[in-house]
Amino acid sequence: MRRNHLTKIVATLGPASSDPATIRTLFESGVDVFRLNFSHGSHDDHLASVNAIREIERDTGRPIAIMMDLQGPKLRVGNFAAGEATIENGDTFRLDLDEEDGDASRVSLPHREIFEALEVGNDLLVNDGRIRLRVKECGPDFALTEVVTGGVISNHKGVNVPGVVLPLSPLTEKDRADMRFGLDQGVDWCALSFIQRPEDLAEARRLVAGRAAIMTKLEKPAAIDRLDEIIELSDAVMVARGDLGVELPPEEVPSLQKQIVRVCRQAGKPVVVATQMLESMVSAPQPTRAEASDVATAVFDGADAVMLSAESAVGKFPVESVGMMSRIIERVEQAPRWRGLMDADQPEPEATAADAISAAAHQVAHTLSAAAIVTYTTSGSTTFRAARERPAVPIIGLTPNQNTARRLAIVWGVHSIFTSDADSFEDMAEKAGRHALADGFAKAGDRIIITAGVPFGTPGATNLLRIARV
Ligand code: PGA
Ligand code: MN
Repeated sequence: MRRNHLTKIVATLGPASSDPATIRTLFESGVDVFRLNFSHGSHDDHLASVNAIREIERDTGRPIAIMMDLQGPKLRVGNFAAGEATIENGDTFRLDLDEEDGDASRVSLPHREIFEALEVGNDLLVNDGRIRLRVKECGPDFALTEVVTGGVISNHKGVNVPGVVLPLSPLTEKDRADMRFGLDQGVDWCALSFIQRPEDLAEARRLVAGRAAIMTKLEKPAAIDRLDEIIELSDAVMVARGDLGVELPPEEVPSLQKQIVRVCRQAGKPVVVATQMLESMVSAPQPTRAEASDVATAVFDGADAVMLSAESAVGKFPVESVGMMSRIIERVEQAPRWRGLMDADQPEPEATAADAISAAAHQVAHTLSAAAIVTYTTSGSTTFRAARERPAVPIIGLTPNQNTARRLAIVWGVHSIFTSDADSFEDMAEKAGRHALADGFAKAGDRIIITAGVPFGTPGATNLLRIARV
């Protein structure tokens, strides 16, 4: 069973989609990676989703990636006596550590670290940036602000503090408990929210201890300032445009998206473009033309994957959203302009055997019009490097490691297969041809390009390129 899209689809599960039958339909409609959003739902809910996904895997034999997305230190105001309050432009509004219910003059903001980091002139944004408060005076337990843009604030609304590096760990107590739970259930990717600095990744990596790959969500301007270091320390990144577009002016986000995708491709790290891609499909069976263009742009940029959030988690049309996303991707990937863009951004190979072989495989596949590139991989790293080339033919990743097969589901153009390693040259060519044929990538007589390492079964030893006939 092969996909018709090279750019992958991530879909968030939620009340609209987490029953097993819907998860199966979403998979059949094109989802490669399921995202479990730990900002919502109980452990039991997530466990049921994991079990349903693994059952589809068993039934279809196709590896599926599960991404757990940790809430991170999302800042929120406390409660209002009336549930909400309306504040007007020019008003004075106080935020403090007092637990008492709020009103139109103050509310609690139960995060001491914010007050410690604030300076006069900083802006606080509430409710996805709809409300803007400017700090006029502040102390260790309060901030007096002027309302720049007023509106209604209700209980527990989120707060963003753009431009301020907050002295917060990226992992709250809840995140640590969620992470332990998710790792025990065998999630493949662990997404970290509100990463601000490279150091934030060190602790997460120690806790994950190799049991999942790490996806850094880029949603803070501070992280963008140290983009190269953060990408280097991550296994993949997400352009988390929801919070990023609150912390930065929205007009900054499109160019930044292009820059991040480009840097990630250069580095060979998968990159996911996320949030509001088909937002109006939360309540309508069709997207706006602008949303269709947004998905197309991410594909033209060369992102590894595009993501559905509310559309698939709480929307009325989760299956239609996946179908629409899949069709947009397929259509773009047929455009000559798209192929030209993939080639134009071709990264230079690094001076490693894996890169030399990957670049050669791309070139040879093109010259011979081969049907596929088949990579033998243990950790997945050779297959990541092959995908970095964005070759014009599909990449089949054969791996004896089930975790690798699942992680690869998020990588551009990769069809991963969990299978035993080759044990001889004959076996290598025979097995590669058999899988390419069985999964619909080649016909008998087609040429395939194989990369592997000898001695067989030695991880990290890619040193061989072979042209074979199926
Ligand atoms: P979230 O992250 O949905 O967990 O907030 C994505 C984003 O901010 O875009
Ligand atoms: Mn976010």
